[in-house]
Amino acid sequence: MGDSVNPFESFQEQVDEAAEHIEVDEGMLERLKNPERILETNLSVEMDDGSIEVFRAYRSQFNGDRGPYKGGIRYHPNVSRDEVKALSGWMAYKTATAGIPLGGGKGGIVIDPAEYSESELERITRAFAEELTPLIGEDRDIPAPDVNTGQREMNWIKDTYETLENTTEPGVITGKDISSGGSEGRVEATGRSTVIAAREAFDYLGRDISDATVAVQGYGNAGWISAKLAEELGADVVAVSDSSGGIYSEDGIDAVDAKRHKRETGSVVEYPDADEEITNDELLQLDVDLLIPAALENAIDEEIARGVQADVISEAANGPITPAGDDVLEDEDVLVVPDILANAGGVTVSYFEWVQNRQRFYWDEGRVNDELEEIMVDQFDTLVDAYEEHDLPSMRVAAYVVAIDRVVEAAEQADVWP
Ligand code: GLU
Repeated sequence: MGDSVNPFESFQEQVDEAAEHIEVDEGMLERLKNPERILETNLSVEMDDGSIEVFRAYRSQFNGDRGPYKGGIRYHPNVSRDEVKALSGWMAYKTATAGIPLGGGKGGIVIDPAEYSESELERITRAFAEELTPLIGEDRDIPAPDVNTGQREMNWIKDTYETLENTTEPGVITGKDISSGGSEGRVEATGRSTVIAAREAFDYLGRDISDATVAVQGYGNAGWISAKLAEELGADVVAVSDSSGGIYSEDGIDAVDAKRHKRETGSVVEYPDADEEITNDELLQLDVDLLIPAALENAIDEEIARGVQADVISEAANGPITPAGDDVLEDEDVLVVPDILANAGGVTVSYFEWVQNRQRFYWDEGRVNDELEEIMVDQFDTLVDAYEEHDLPSMRVAAYVVAIDRVVEAAEQADVWP
């Protein structure tokens, strides 16, 4: 895999490529390619055995022209300053692609959470929340879950912030547990939008997703929900994987049962009802109709891309295809629904959560899903229109063209001060 590819360079290449198709002056382009500010901090935290450990953590506030900075917090050993910068940039163009009134940000801690106890993770999370407190707020910057974080961490951050600020402000963070002010449908939202985007892509090709075979790389929240919802639409999920490896079954894999197996054993590998075990690279090159990369950046580099056989890729992960990989897929006419649309369901339902928090008025799951469906279908159509009208090379370029236009318009309305 293309681990040597720097995600921030990939991100900047994507913006540059889109900028070739629109009129944007040089100074503005520089603004569109770089974060407004970054917090880099070292968290000193007491471990269960009384020792002190130091954890590097970041928060990048990329762009706030369209609203408060918005984006998740990731816990992973590969978190770096450049990764966080890239992820925050993708958020800015994701909220713009979705057309929701938010900017882009992202945070992360360099940590393998599997190596720490729950009470250590709580202290680490609260230490980060304390550092974040002066920077975040429901009108300032609104964190959310990302890789290896979920409702538990969001609840700790909300509680730390509210305690330090002596206030009640559930909209300071999204992806919370329902009883802490979370939204119905938020946990499933990323997978839901990934599958809606794939469904629309097949429809655009004159095909039906219910006839598709599917491979899903990554079986965390985004991956396994995508598999489950694709199955509900009648598609055949024939392969799934996680960081330990993958499994393949010609007759299909029961998504919910494979998740149960992962929960019990730590991995999908050795799932008893699978025909065979495969590697992640083999999964990405299977002869399937739909491929859903739902793990980390750079999964599909130039070399892997050459072997991709799927007709449609819907990106549940952020940045799973390198720019060189994109070029190959473009030549092969693979329809790639880019991350900044495909996985935008997560942040879109975060937006709904924030709206509900501010109004202190909560929606049922049906309403959440209906509103998400409407936004996804509308924005997919907007991208297709841009793609066809300007004869753009890919749906990714179309998404950036649409998103950059929206950010630039907001920036110009506000003007530059001082
Ligand atoms: N981490 C998710 C993403 O990459 C969700 C962000 C959010 O809800 O703010 O889109």
